[in-house]
Amino acid sequence: MEKKYRPETLCVQEGWSPKKGEPRVLPIYQSTTFKYDNSEQMARLFDLEDSGYFYTRLQNPTNDAVAAKIAALEGGVAGMLTSSGQAANFYAVFNICESGDHFVCSTAIYGGTYNLFSVTMKKLGIEMTFIDQNASEEEIQKAFRPNTKCLFGETISNPGCEVLDIEKFARIAHRNGVPLIVDNTFATPINCRPFEWGADIVTHSTTKYMDGHATAVGGAIVDSGNFDWDVHADKFPGLTTPDDSYHGLTYTKSFGKMAYITKATAQMMRDLGSIQAPMNAFLLNLGLETLHLRVKRHCENAQRIAEWLSQNDKVAWVNYSGLPDNPYHSLAQKYLPNGSCGVIAFGLKGSREEAIRLMDSLKLICIVTHVADARSCVLHPASHTHRQLSDEQLREAGVAPDLIRLSVGIENVEDLIADIEQALG
Ligand SMILES: *Cc1c(COP(=O)(O)O)cnc(C)c1O
Repeated sequence: MEKKYRPETLCVQEGWSPKKGEPRVLPIYQSTTFKYDNSEQMARLFDLEDSGYFYTRLQNPTNDAVAAKIAALEGGVAGMLTSSGQAANFYAVFNICESGDHFVCSTAIYGGTYNLFSVTMKKLGIEMTFIDQNASEEEIQKAFRPNTKCLFGETISNPGCEVLDIEKFARIAHRNGVPLIVDNTFATPINCRPFEWGADIVTHSTTKYMDGHATAVGGAIVDSGNFDWDVHADKFPGLTTPDDSYHGLTYTKSFGKMAYITKATAQMMRDLGSIQAPMNAFLLNLGLETLHLRVKRHCENAQRIAEWLSQNDKVAWVNYSGLPDNPYHSLAQKYLPNGSCGVIAFGLKGSREEAIRLMDSLKLICIVTHVADARSCVLHPASHTHRQLSDEQLREAGVAPDLIRLSVGIENVEDLIADIEQALG
């Protein structure tokens, strides 16, 4: 779109601009291949000299329209969809890190990302150092090495609900000549746009609020176009020296601000192939059309419920950054002035059995391994995802044995409170 529209308009209209007689609604291009008139046209595509579609593993019009919408919402230059949030975070780092390299990451991240970075990427020869995101800049600086290639954190961590000081992280990353990658899944660009605070690359599990209805697993990477790879050319040879797999093309020379995202598509996706199915991109787009309405409602409902829980004498503690006495409240006011997300962590007085009793007594709020969709749900990590651990081991893993993760949906908030109230007994 030519004019700069506001987020609500982008949610509804960005990405797909039909011409005369074309479908008003983004179509599903359910085709692996695309037709050309002569051999020369196709050859130019393979050399990245022309842009166009030839095989859906590299690019597909449905996916590109949705990626463009997400990029516009984040204020980036371009985006790419992936098959899952896991694939997005893997590609985002692997696009600039290779065997022998190192990166730095906050401990306050999603469990799947934790395993990917600390176990699987290590097997590829990429080392990672965890840091406490609330530590001082001097302390975090100590984790950096000459071969460090990026810094990584989550705007709002899953499941801990910790808020990242993005400006501090951007300062540290840039002082070390590396980009800051931020997983913005929980905040969504409706509540926070990390590029405005200095982040260079943003990732998403679109499975959560963006899809919003728990219908399609997916991910996205958005490039701000702001990081100057050529200034740190020695650190990023994959972007600043010729790529043998494209006849010696150099991404920064040929694509400028689009170098990183072009490499991610033309090389990572070509070779690793974790594409989002066009059907899933279509579902994601339907979700995005109402993202601005849903996120607002998730936050309003969660704020009310967090306040209600903190007043209840059966509740031991509540972690929600919208509460004034929350340790992340001031960071949330800076980075998330319109609200954080719908996820609340809380604990009940008494033993872990109290948590189980509460969850089994809920009628409207369901027990599911998911967060951040329209339906309210709960999970008790100690009984589910982390059930093999003792109380002691749970605390070491940063999960309180009594922690209940409540993902507040967009139902009527009085109905949700009534359900929690009857379940508390
Ligand atoms: C769920 C999640 C992921 C992983 O995404 P999938 O779509 O499940 O692969 C990554 N980061 C965050 C913050 C998440 O909540």
